[in-house]
Amino acid sequence: MNELARLPSVERLVQAPEAAPLVEAHGRRAVVEALRAVLAGAREAVLEGGAAVPAEAEILASAARALAAEAAPSLRPVLNLTGTVLHTNLGRAPLPEAAVDAVAAVARGASNLEFSLDEGRRGDRDDHVEDRLRRLTGAEAATVVNNNAAAVLLVLDTLARGREAIVSRGELIEIGGAFRMPEIMEGAGVRLREVGTTNRTHARDFEGAIGEATGLVLKVHKSNYEISGFTKEVPERELAAIARARGIPFAVDLGSGSLADLAGFGLPHEPTPRACLEAGADLVTFSGDKLLGGPQAGLVVGRADLVARLKRNPLKRALRCDKMTIAALSEVLRLHLDPPRLATRLPALRLLTRPEPEIRAMADALMPAVASALSGLAAVERVECASQIGSGAQPVDLLPSAGLAIAPLTDGGVAGPSASRILAALRRLPLPVVGRIAKDRVVLDLRCLEDPAALADQLPALRAALSREAEA
Ligand SMILES: *Cc1c(COP(=O)(O)O)cnc(C)c1O
Repeated sequence: MNELARLPSVERLVQAPEAAPLVEAHGRRAVVEALRAVLAGAREAVLEGGAAVPAEAEILASAARALAAEAAPSLRPVLNLTGTVLHTNLGRAPLPEAAVDAVAAVARGASNLEFSLDEGRRGDRDDHVEDRLRRLTGAEAATVVNNNAAAVLLVLDTLARGREAIVSRGELIEIGGAFRMPEIMEGAGVRLREVGTTNRTHARDFEGAIGEATGLVLKVHKSNYEISGFTKEVPERELAAIARARGIPFAVDLGSGSLADLAGFGLPHEPTPRACLEAGADLVTFSGDKLLGGPQAGLVVGRADLVARLKRNPLKRALRCDKMTIAALSEVLRLHLDPPRLATRLPALRLLTRPEPEIRAMADALMPAVASALSGLAAVERVECASQIGSGAQPVDLLPSAGLAIAPLTDGGVAGPSASRILAALRRLPLPVVGRIAKDRVVLDLRCLEDPAALADQLPALRAALSREAEA
């Protein structure tokens, strides 16, 4: 009990000169709470463990660490070395600097978001992107919402609420994060009319299903899976003709929907919104942060009369995107207007088209430093690997890449940290590194590492973390 009496009071600690910068940074209330927590812990350690009363400086240092940890942002940058370039859980497309600057410019103050500077009256937030979208896709009109799921929802709600939407059974997809086409339809009060079978759907299936109750014919791009073998689907041009003959709107949900001709960049072909519209689609929906390489957004392009109906739907108000998204999207679309320079200026495309020899050279250059940082803990080698586009584009096409494989030491009887421990230590670095495990090794695909120092500079911290663990 005597020991406990020597613990300083919270009041005394807050008044200490070392506490002043903490109060300045975090506010007095947070500092008092942190000190109380540290004191409570110390009291318990004395009473139950017979520990010595910690010095004042030690108590203040513990509180400072706790306050710093609490103040760190929850959402922060990471190094995506998973090999999946457009990784949904890691925020999808990295934005070009020009788009980041555009976001910062409007984030700080007022902007003409919905205000026409020419006419001095109310404008429409779509005005900042609609022209460029028209030029890039050949569409009559365009509108933008929060993401592609919202775009699909808006199209269904506007054109088919209380009626039927006809979709091929082979296209009733689920996309990561609980986007299930049948559930989106239910949410929009649309009755799903499934036609055909999982592997084969014919024109006659659609023709037979169209009737009084039909509001929409919908084609969904099979983003994240592929059916091969005995398959048949109805081409867009044919579906468009069937729908038009019966006066029914025909929409295509493209998912990724690249604006650029990817084959021209040496990448697997992806259908473009322009090609869909030329094939007769009345509306096409696609994402802003997949192959477009921009911010999270859902884009709808197509017939002017239908887009006008989408804009009049009160749901549009709930699904609209904010000024920062519009600012970023407008810049990204501007870059798309200059295809020859797109692969250098748009990070998503730059990473996807990065030549394998360049990635391999980076892996070779980093190898010795990583190996030496992990010597005695793990073995490191340069490996060939295969990156994926991600976000549902071309699930089966892999891009040749290179990386580092970190294998736990198994020889000599001294077991080093396991692959999952190494993976976890990488995640806990100041700039977290996200890799993956393949065959009991940690694989870091270097395709998305443009600045090798971001990894190299953290190697001492990685070694320290793994050595600490090995001792513990
Ligand atoms: C990704 C995808 C969606 C959902 O788009 P988000 O922008 O993630 O909301 C919808 N449909 C298809 C076909 C997709 O690939």
